[in-house]
Amino acid sequence: MRILFVASEAAPLIKTGGLADVSGALPSALRKIGIDCRVLLPGYPVVMYKLESTRQVARFDQFLDAEGKPLAARLLLCGISGSDTPIYVLDAPAVFARAGGPYQDSDGIDYPDNAHRFALLSQVAAILAGAASPIDWQPDILHCNDWQTGLAPAYLRLSGNQTPIVMTVHNLAYQGIFPPKTLTHLNLPVSSFSIEGTEYYGNLSFLKAGLYYANHITTVSPTYALEIQQPHLGMGMQGLLASRQHQLSGILNGIDTDEWNPAADRHLRCEFNARALAGKKQCKHKLQEELGLEPLANAPLFGIIARMAHQKGLDLVLAIADGIIDRGGQIAMLGTGEKSIEIAVRALVARHPGKVAALIGYNEGLSHRIEAGSDIFLMPSLFEPCGLNQMYSLRYGSVPIVHATGGLRDTVEDGVTGFVFHQPTPHALWLAVERALDLYPQKPAWKKLVQTGMNRDFSWNKSALAYQALYQSLLPLEA
Ligand code: ADP
Repeated sequence: MRILFVASEAAPLIKTGGLADVSGALPSALRKIGIDCRVLLPGYPVVMYKLESTRQVARFDQFLDAEGKPLAARLLLCGISGSDTPIYVLDAPAVFARAGGPYQDSDGIDYPDNAHRFALLSQVAAILAGAASPIDWQPDILHCNDWQTGLAPAYLRLSGNQTPIVMTVHNLAYQGIFPPKTLTHLNLPVSSFSIEGTEYYGNLSFLKAGLYYANHITTVSPTYALEIQQPHLGMGMQGLLASRQHQLSGILNGIDTDEWNPAADRHLRCEFNARALAGKKQCKHKLQEELGLEPLANAPLFGIIARMAHQKGLDLVLAIADGIIDRGGQIAMLGTGEKSIEIAVRALVARHPGKVAALIGYNEGLSHRIEAGSDIFLMPSLFEPCGLNQMYSLRYGSVPIVHATGGLRDTVEDGVTGFVFHQPTPHALWLAVERALDLYPQKPAWKKLVQTGMNRDFSWNKSALAYQALYQSLLPLEA
């Protein structure tokens, strides 16, 4: 079975969030079970820089940029060390060679031609999955991810091709919405701009198009698959999603257990596992040292790693943080994002020197060291399609405190592997924090909680088998 997996980011080449973790790990988990899965990615500068073997396999002369000028684009077939997943990279410098991140410039402003940039990626995905593909590898299924690839199903279907398409929603909050006039510059027929097509409340939505034209929709946890059919978390798409409930399923993400392994983690200078936890104490001490926290072995250390976005419930954390410090706790935070949250975090650090530390920025190594060195991990997201950090936390013996939503609900068991609270309010979070603080000094009970979490299996294999079953169900039966 051949799968073309198209995404706007994939670890370790380019990452802004969980989508990259999935796009990095799922294709290789699929390959391990015998599926020929290949990835299509945009050729951002960091991607071009990190590629190892590259071979041009196609040129595209038909595309125009946002100003209507011809745009040079070519397809490279590449590999990276440590992975056997073939990667097709769309090298189109006019749209992808930018100084900032994949979606925004260095000031955090969306690129004005994002619709063009990701329509181009989507068009190339549709071409590769279609009958007129310029390459000699034809996928049986096109697997699209999030809004950046949402027009691929539209291009493919509107060209009359029936190759099955899976559309995975990693976060419904990002919908790729653009003014209706954008459509005419994207090689899409005006007739597609309707409720049965690309139109979404008077605008063009890339994600809506993907959800409408795909054969099957998946999202990244079973609970989120139900939640997005309701007005509360459906973000306006609930009607469409509910009408497609029989073609909608939730498959929990796995985690990369080689990259996230406390017994062999290149980012740590200590190691541990569920049976030998002494190294975790060392990790805590080193983390306190690294972040300038007081070297107190018995102070419960709370870790937080998150995009600083409203979604992540950091307002709740900020509301109770002084209470944690009053109870003798410490906090280590890592994240970047909305300026207002960053300012509030800096103020918290200034109020509690030696007790709260925060690194505002992106730091892969520190994210591992926080998981390893913290005792408790806070993840009070208002909604969470799957969430990865709570699974990393379980594996690293950092007991998660989570809001009962989406994948958090599906991965953390209250009182067994962590603490789960039900209302996204500071009070409910505080009650869960108090339960953790009360249990923390009871060493045997705490150790049992830690070890039970560490022994949970969140490897990709189970999810890969679920995707395989889904792909199989979409393929025409052999004659
Ligand atoms: P989301 O995709 O909504 O950002 P997830 O929990 O699914 O949330 O995935 C977030 C991923 O990004 C995790 O691998 C997490 O460790 C990582 N991450 C988020 N912020 C940072 C940061 N500032 N530094 C390093 N890693 C980060």
